[in-house]
Amino acid sequence: LPEALRADWPSTSQPSTKTTLDTPISVELLRDRIFAGAIEPRFQPIVDLQTGHIRGVEVLSRLRLADGGLLPPSRFIPLAESSGLISALTQALIARLIEMSARLDALSVQHLGLNLSWNSLNAGEAEALISPLVSALADGCHLDIELTETVSPANLQMLRRTGAELRLLGARIAIDDFGTGYSSVRNLAELPVDVLKIDMSFVREMFDSAKGLAILRGIIHLGHDIGLELIAEGVENQDQRQALVKAGVGYAQGFLFHPPMSLSHLEEVQGPPSRV
Ligand code: C2E
Ligand code: CA
Ligand code: CA
Ligand code: CA
Repeated sequence: LPEALRADWPSTSQPSTKTTLDTPISVELLRDRIFAGAIEPRFQPIVDLQTGHIRGVEVLSRLRLADGGLLPPSRFIPLAESSGLISALTQALIARLIEMSARLDALSVQHLGLNLSWNSLNAGEAEALISPLVSALADGCHLDIELTETVSPANLQMLRRTGAELRLLGARIAIDDFGTGYSSVRNLAELPVDVLKIDMSFVREMFDSAKGLAILRGIIHLGHDIGLELIAEGVENQDQRQALVKAGVGYAQGFLFHPPMSLSHLEEVQGPPSRV
């Protein structure tokens, strides 16, 4: 296993990919694990594209199984959304982040990206979920609430209000996977947005054809023209990095820089926490 993936497994046991990664999980198991505190945050650095310095981190959830295995979000987030467990999951994740807040502060990152399933939250729920975390974080660190573009027009009104409330709390609103959702540009016009996360499919396809590059450039121009910060996702090689810098993208995340990692691992990468 590459180092990046090995970091996700307990170092004392062999990764048991066969028994854990392929077994479907039930709603009951998911509920039990959420309430057992088994949602674990991983952190992927977001870097300044030119210097490579860490500017922020995105929080990515993992589910720890009783046998020690660790599930990626694709194995439990859709189930949490369809079963109504997503609020409990997000709450459990936020509780873990609040426990870690002193260590997170010591990292001196400027922003923490949090994925929120907006469509699955009830009206008014987002603010109540988020504000304890906002209070726990140092003033110099703000939240980027990452919203995936599965927004239906019926929800737009509610999302506009929620977005405005989250902004009042000091959070920024980021559109995740920009360009892949339906009516993306409409969302940009309708919602309060601060950050565009350029989906990794555009980064991957930029050298495949003139069309791929033109689409990427179009997204970048659009973002610049309406004053948004741009973060490219899934940057895996130097050619992509150079091309993105040249096109004017400020920030990025990807395996070229850092994989998602545990807090201890992040502390090693970012330097030891300051001693008091
Ligand atoms: P996302 O928000 O688009 O997160 C980025 C995904 O890309 C992560 O997958 C990350 O590990 C992966 N990635 C990062 N750099 C690279 C790269 O250079 N190359 C490639 N091929 N992949 C890269 P992950 O951790 O499996 O998360 C998958 C998705 O699950 C996330 O996509 C997000 O939509 C969702 N998710 C994760 N945590 C949460 C959560 O706490 N709540 C909600 N609602 N959704 C979550
Ligand atoms: Ca995200
Ligand atoms: Ca994304
Ligand atoms: Ca995604």
